[in-house]
Amino acid sequence: MDRILAFGCHPDDVEFMVAGTLALLADRGYEIHIATMTGGEVGHPTLSPQQIRARRLAEAAASAAVIGATYHYAGGYDLEVQYDDAYRKRVVRVLREVDPLIVFTNPPMDYLADHEEASRLVRNAAYIASVPNYDIGEPSTPTTRFPYLYYWNASSLTDIFGRPLPLSCAVDITSAMPTKLEMLKCHQSQQEWLAYHNDWNDYLENMQWHSREDGRKIGVEYAEGFIQHRSTGHPKDNILNSILGGLCRDLT
Ligand SMILES: [Zn+2]
Repeated sequence: MDRILAFGCHPDDVEFMVAGTLALLADRGYEIHIATMTGGEVGHPTLSPQQIRARRLAEAAASAAVIGATYHYAGGYDLEVQYDDAYRKRVVRVLREVDPLIVFTNPPMDYLADHEEASRLVRNAAYIASVPNYDIGEPSTPTTRFPYLYYWNASSLTDIFGRPLPLSCAVDITSAMPTKLEMLKCHQSQQEWLAYHNDWNDYLENMQWHSREDGRKIGVEYAEGFIQHRSTGHPKDNILNSILGGLCRDLT
């Protein structure tokens, strides 16, 4: 069965914004892979970067296991993601390991520069991973195709100017919300961190708010919104419509 890759900047980005859609795709037999650019090294008030990374990678792997997905850590460092040669090679390595039919990633416009850099790196890798002469410094096999590429919605559902992103479709994840919650609950360390740093004591409810707001756009309880990348090379038809039928609604 074809492979699907959700590539987020930090552990829990995927769970917030695309885990419901991944659960639906896993139910239909697709092989799901979840990758994170960083190990979330700064996300705890008391643990050292090495200690919190070990904990967060374990949490991310446990979350992936909920839907039978494979977890990949790309090797980056929290709050230091940048569009440079080392990061380009890290991301292409993961793309070549998976050779996905569909890629989901952070949106190009979001509140955190780390998210925007990750988006650009994944977008670039989705294009260049198939180029045989692009050398990542270790043996690897070029990907066999341009994947379908989708960006999930921004945190708080707006860009840095407070404007909604131009979503192209949304997936009804109402039936998958229990699974999405189970995956997010694996990230226990982030509930501790955000309560300390952002005064958030409603981590799970915050995720449900995002899904509820996107759900209102298509008249269902919970949804996940996406922008499809439709530039040169990548396929432009909406394959989520083909796979998920009426659960995926166009917004443009
Ligand atoms: Zn993040």
